[in-house]
Order: sequence, then C-alpha cells, then structure tokens
Amino acid sequence: MRSLDMDGPFPLTKVEIERRIKEARPGNFALGRQTKDNRFLVRYVGRDDVDVRRGLLGALNASTTAQPGVVGRLMGAEPGDDCFKFSLAQSADAAFEKHCRHFHHFNKNGNLRNRRHPRSPGQANLACPVCGDKF
Ligand SMILES: [Zn+2]
Repeated sequence: MRSLDMDGPFPLTKVEIERRIKEARPGNFALGRQTKDNRFLVRYVGRDDVDVRRGLLGALNASTTAQPGVVGRLMGAEPGDDCFKFSLAQSADAAFEKHCRHFHHFNKNGNLRNRRHPRSPGQANLACPVCGDKF
C-alpha cells in the first residue's frame, strides 16, 4: 500500500475541514505536512466512528491550543502539521479496518506519532485485519 486512498491534502484549518466534508459520516483522516518536493508526509492517522469532521476538528484544536506534548500527542496534531487528508467510510467497522491498515503500514519505520494500535469501535471487539489482534 503506497497511498492513503484519501482526498487531499488540504490545509489543516477549520474552514477547510468544514468546506471539504459536508456530511457527518464515519471516516478516516491523516495529518501531516507537505515536503519541499510536494509529497505528503504522514505523521498521524486517525478516525471517527460517527463524524470524521469531529475527529479532525479535535485534532486541530489540540494543535492550535499549543499544548505541547501530552495533549497534542493524544489528539493527533502538533504544531507543524499543516495538512490533512480524509476519506468517508461506509461504517464504523470499515473505518476501523482502514485505520488499522494505515497504522501498520505507515508505522513500519516509526514515522507516526500514533503510540497505540487503533481500537475497535464501541463494543464490536473486532480483530485487526493486519495483525489479527483484538483491541
Ligand atoms: Zn493490528
């Protein structure tokens, strides 16, 4: 898997998030920055099982309140992340599976700030499609 299979990158701003995503749907997002040769460097992969806008806005708030370290890492974004990509999912389960694939793929060389494996939505207790573990 080389690509995220997502739309973007777009500037990580409230206006842009609300302009690009019109529906409250489960979905996935990635945060990162543009390199000088115009590649998107993925630094964090996230999802929201109900409304992907909510996940992105939460990450944005964490980065702009400029609380260094713990809060920023928990929520995903950090100062310097200036772009996002996203995709909508058919269901929370589908978003979880995509989240897992991204997590394993982009975390191979330790580039992601994600510290923990994605968690299964709600009470579903799904197994990760990559490593087979349950979270
Ligand atoms: Zn896994």
